[in-house]
Amino acid sequence: MLTLYPGNWLYNASVIGFLISVKEIENLSNHFSFKEDGSVVIDQNIFKQLKIEERYYEKKVASIIGKSSFHINYLQYGEDWKEVFRLFVKNLANIKEVDESMSCDFCGRKFAFSDTDIKDMQRKMIRCVINRHKREKNNIEKANKRQINNTNNVKNSSKEIPYSKIFKILSMKDKQIEVNYKKMKETLGKFLNGIKKFDMRHNALLAPSLGEFPNSFCNNADSLYICPLCAYLILHYHVCMTDLADGLKMFVNAPSFEVMWHLNEYVQTIYKRERISRTKELLGMSLIEMALKLNIQLGKWTMMNIEIVTLYNKKVDFFSILYETTVLLSNREIATLLNDIGELSILSFVLNNDFSKIMELGERILKISLLNYSVEKLKQNDKEFVKENIKLQKNIDNLTNLSYKLFKLYALIEEKIKREVFV
Ligand SMILES: [Zn+2]
Repeated sequence: MLTLYPGNWLYNASVIGFLISVKEIENLSNHFSFKEDGSVVIDQNIFKQLKIEERYYEKKVASIIGKSSFHINYLQYGEDWKEVFRLFVKNLANIKEVDESMSCDFCGRKFAFSDTDIKDMQRKMIRCVINRHKREKNNIEKANKRQINNTNNVKNSSKEIPYSKIFKILSMKDKQIEVNYKKMKETLGKFLNGIKKFDMRHNALLAPSLGEFPNSFCNNADSLYICPLCAYLILHYHVCMTDLADGLKMFVNAPSFEVMWHLNEYVQTIYKRERISRTKELLGMSLIEMALKLNIQLGKWTMMNIEIVTLYNKKVDFFSILYETTVLLSNREIATLLNDIGELSILSFVLNNDFSKIMELGERILKISLLNYSVEKLKQNDKEFVKENIKLQKNIDNLTNLSYKLFKLYALIEEKIKREVFV
């Protein structure tokens, strides 16, 4: 079992992205569970069950070969690299913290492969090299048989496989296997060495401009050391980011994996439904959704420091919403009422701590509604005011009711603020 704790935003996004991919591809969400202290516990056997071919070569959860857009040259082309990567991922099932190892600059832990793990990977490589040779030999023999049959039938010998090639494969001795095994062992060394340092390999979008973001990562060091576990998890960071319009990407960062799991899922679904690109409103609506749908008793500390991380054109920006705002939006009564009202402008008042505007709007609307029964008969300036502030037809049709809801919302917020001692 692996227990992972929230850390910097990129690490958090990597963990959440990986978990989403596990849920979607292998359907193994029962292999991890979120804890109240904000951590997540992952059954390490998960790594043995990952469908490597499907994930990285067919569906391309992350493109990792050659000059892909996210992870440039994480893997080089070739059978050896592919095999080494497969063994690496399977072996994460055994990874544990090793005292003598360096601390990882991403997770702060000392995860490393032990010598036994490395030896085990090498042993598996021998088997893999031998199998590959057997396969090649069989293929050539089959092809040769086909050629002979064809030649007999069609009397055309021009496509026959040259004897030299058949001879080479058939007479392959252990020596050749040994040479190939050594080559593969070298590839493993190169791979494990290569993924240690945070660079383009891990993140083409962030690496070149890393130095510009002192808040992003620890120490603002020129080069960061990454443990094998993080080097793998980071391949998935983009999976949980919501792609907003014009290439803007958004991630909700929080000190609890459970909160991040739900909020980012809601941001994605709300964005698909509403197409609002304003990140603050998206987060607000997601908090409301979480309060309505889930019965998570979040410790107060988990509510602090909920921040929006946006990625645009190699630039990372952070925006935190106030702790008070999070508390208000996570309150079930307030969330229900805001959801019922459904007006984005009202949500914005709450997000901007402009509570008095809710009251003012309520009073003005009540006045208007008392003047006239239907909106059509209103004076021009009143009509325009309604049009500008109220978007939903159900609210326009029943202004009196809307004004009462606004008064109630204001009262609830006041009460909550008085009751909570915000620190
Ligand atoms: Zn790490």
